[in-house]
Amino acid sequence: MFWVGLGKFLRSSSPSTDTFGTMSAHAGTRTWGIGMLSYTAPEADLGFLLFDLFQAPERWASSEGTAHLDADLAQAILSEGGRLASEVFSPLMQSGDEEGCHLEGGQVRTPAGFKAAYEAYAQGGWMGLAGDPAFGGQGMPKQLCVALEEMFFAANASLYLYPALSAGACVLLAAHGSEAQKAQWLPPLYEGRFSGTMCLTEPHAGSDLSLLRTRAEPQGDGSFSVSGSKIFITGGEHDLTENIVHFVLARTPDAPPGNRGLSLFLVPKFLLTAGGTLGDRNAVAVGSIEHKMGIKGSATCVMNFDEARGWLVGEEGRGLAAMFTMMNYERLSIGLQGLGTADLAFQNALAYAKERRQGRDPQGSREEADSLLVHPDVRRMLLTQKAFNEGGRAFASYVAMMLDQARYGTTTEARAEGEAFAAFLTPIAKAFFSDRGLECCVLAQQVLGGHGYLAEWGLEQCVRDTRIAQIYEGTNGIQAMDLADRKTAREQGRTAMALLASLRAACPPEGPWGQEVSGALDTFQRATEALVAGAAEDPTFAGAVAADYLELTGLVLYACLWQRMVPAALRAAQAGRVPTRFAEDKRTTGAFFMAKLLPKITLLEQTLKAGSAPLMAAAL
Ligand SMILES: Cc1cc2nc3c(=O)[nH]c(=O)nc-3n(C[C@H](O)[C@H](O)[C@H](O)COP(=O)(O)OP(=O)(O)OC[C@H]3O[C@@H](n4cnc5c(N)ncnc54)[C@H](O)[C@@H]3O)c2cc1C
Repeated sequence: MFWVGLGKFLRSSSPSTDTFGTMSAHAGTRTWGIGMLSYTAPEADLGFLLFDLFQAPERWASSEGTAHLDADLAQAILSEGGRLASEVFSPLMQSGDEEGCHLEGGQVRTPAGFKAAYEAYAQGGWMGLAGDPAFGGQGMPKQLCVALEEMFFAANASLYLYPALSAGACVLLAAHGSEAQKAQWLPPLYEGRFSGTMCLTEPHAGSDLSLLRTRAEPQGDGSFSVSGSKIFITGGEHDLTENIVHFVLARTPDAPPGNRGLSLFLVPKFLLTAGGTLGDRNAVAVGSIEHKMGIKGSATCVMNFDEARGWLVGEEGRGLAAMFTMMNYERLSIGLQGLGTADLAFQNALAYAKERRQGRDPQGSREEADSLLVHPDVRRMLLTQKAFNEGGRAFASYVAMMLDQARYGTTTEARAEGEAFAAFLTPIAKAFFSDRGLECCVLAQQVLGGHGYLAEWGLEQCVRDTRIAQIYEGTNGIQAMDLADRKTAREQGRTAMALLASLRAACPPEGPWGQEVSGALDTFQRATEALVAGAAEDPTFAGAVAADYLELTGLVLYACLWQRMVPAALRAAQAGRVPTRFAEDKRTTGAFFMAKLLPKITLLEQTLKAGSAPLMAAAL
């Protein structure tokens, strides 16, 4: 069980002081050397969200599925996860980038140290943290797991992608696999002995999966023979685990064209014997690995299936719907990649700004030169990062709370609401986190001036690594379409309006920045109405305004969360759970968000209302 593994990393953790002054909400020890990226797990902020803002332990206690978790255990898990991230994952981030992955004789070699770090992760019980207890998982709620995901992604996105894909594969199998498949494959996946992949993309079929050509022929013994080529497969081949379990979308012989003809197959690298041990090598092999801009320690593989043995998962013809279980899991996860790396970049930019002396304080100075922190423009860059990162962290926790409500809610209505809200919020989390993530990494790089452009400081790696989060797992354009078209226009804004009602109830006008937040909610309402009305008249409308709508909605949601965080932080400070400075810090950062970032929604409403004509009229 988890607490056995936990002991492996357990050391006494004490509330630590803030190393970098009032601008940082981070706590923990930090080792920072010139020219090295350093990561401190934001344990204090994550704990504040779980225990003070969302009061998660009360909900955990009220549901049978989560009653095994209490605040003390959650705190211990957070601390140990943070320690593993900062002490084991983080030191390999830059060396992993320099070395990258190599394909040698049909085998992918991951960078030095990755295997040992992965083993520490697997042996500590982290792989099965959210897993089904019936098959060896630990059944931890998503709200706790997203906090850990953010830290592992921040510490080393390339390395964490391997377990992140496996975790999504487990969720997929737990939801759609037969009992026999679950019994056979989930335990080794939860133990981290096996890893998982998602095999969708083909050379001619990326966003449009209806074009997929990989074929699966029934063999008459319950198995299928799978043939085709998949590209861009994350973790398709590597040296971290004994076996790799591929989840492959393919067409059976009489399948209709389009999405309804797709079925999902489990295709292992090694077949299993009747006793569950590794048997023959299956006919699936890596053809090549991609050379790419970032996440160089993550193997991105061309995978060739040449009459490989596979087994149907779920119903024939329902493969895409089943695969969406994994895709939705990974979408939130990839959002957390953007968020985590942005926090890593911020921490390092802030530390640099405090030490670097250039120019004099405009308010007066006797020094030859003052710290960069005195300059309003540097403060703008740092506070933008801080406000987006802490707002994003709260948003991630909120989405996860909705996922937990969908799963563990005590009434049918509560579960339905959780499911609808989580579906609406997931594309926002994926795209808004990764867009803001890149923006914040570039700002962090800018804080370092020319040094930010040099490889040795690591900020340029943050920029390169984060860029992919906007592209894979469905581009951010596709996320925006999913939100604006499928999840809003096509259902006449039903979920958006239900969410709006819940936000109005949670964020009353008498709260901090009541006028700004009420105004933002009104803007969200008008934008949703304009989207629904425009889409009813014009087939290009939703696509034309999708990016505006997603960004506007993201900003409005962050405003609501910033409003709620301030009194919660004050209460936590009064109860002695966080330092007074933590609460003050939330108030000043929230004020920055309301004054400097939220007003963009006025512009976005205007561009949304400009509709599709300016886009469709131009001859390209
Ligand atoms: C490093 C890396 C790792 C990856 N890992 C995996 C993996 O593990 N498994 C896997 O299956 N795939 C993986 N992918 C593939 C990735 O998910 C796709 O690249 C992505 O979904 C986009 O598909 P595409 O590249 O074919 O672009 P296209 O689909 O050709 O899109 C090109 C552009 O057109 C836009 N576009 C396309 N269709 C529409 C539309 N209907 N409406 C509006 N805009 C549209 C897109 O937003 C994009 O900007 C990975 C890719 C990379 C680079």
